Amino acid sequence: MVQTGAPSARQLLRNAVERLTQADIPEPVASAEVLLAELLCVRRSELVSREEPQTNEEIALYETWISRRLQREPVQRILGYAYFRNLRLELDGYTLIPRPDTESVVDAALEVIESRDDGTCRVLDLGTGSGAIAISLASEQPSSDVHATDNSESSLRVARRNAVRTGSKVRFYRTDLFMGLDALLANSVDVLVSNPPYVRSAQIETLAQEVRDWDPRTALDGGPDGLGFYRRIFAEAAPLLKNMADVVLEVGDGQAETVLELGQCAGYEPMGRHTDLTGTPRAVWLRWRSWG
Ligand code: GLN
Repeated sequence: MVQTGAPSARQLLRNAVERLTQADIPEPVASAEVLLAELLCVRRSELVSREEPQTNEEIALYETWISRRLQREPVQRILGYAYFRNLRLELDGYTLIPRPDTESVVDAALEVIESRDDGTCRVLDLGTGSGAIAISLASEQPSSDVHATDNSESSLRVARRNAVRTGSKVRFYRTDLFMGLDALLANSVDVLVSNPPYVRSAQIETLAQEVRDWDPRTALDGGPDGLGFYRRIFAEAAPLLKNMADVVLEVGDGQAETVLELGQCAGYEPMGRHTDLTGTPRAVWLRWRSWG
């Protein structure tokens, strides 16, 4: 219902930006614009030229969303979905919000997959969360045979729905890392990819409130030095990997060299690193040779 004198999108936006700025909320303009654009199903750039009054329902919903953002809830949690590469991925409270950083990990994995010439490439994504890496690889490289794991049944439900909705073929398993997978995928994985939890436990309290309070701790906490999952991956992956398999792992800031060294000590050959959009090394690439 539209009431005379009801605010336009432009006015709603101006008011929201003002409140978010005053409350010191990070990225006030982007937050206010993305929420309103998604609510009205228009492009962000169209908002300022919308002078017509909005309906009471739209105004009330936007108000609810802005109050949530004022509590530092991330925009993607408020919406219940996130954009990742060319996908829109549904989220729930148990899935990490897929980050732009991880889009560059997908680029690194795609390069590696494309450089292999062994027919159908079997890919395994460990700890898939909302399915971001696995579903991107399956949709952008449809000839690959993509498998993905997570230890949260709830995340897997979300990831499965995301795969179905985007028409991507991914097989999902509930596992604690590799546990039980050797019966299904022994000696068969060409490319292992993962964005494991890599934040040092003690550092979690210092993260932005949007991350600390809203991302699942289990998707962030990499143990005392942040490297616990890399050690486990290197130690436990071998039975699944083909000779000459590639391993592509997302790493935290400053971790690339250490993770390459950890891999080398465990018998993997360091092959390279891949930077994200800000130029920070974000993925490492290693190769497994089972016959020495
Ligand atoms: N990129 C996340 C952060 O905001 C961490 C994700 C992870 O631990 N893999 O720090």
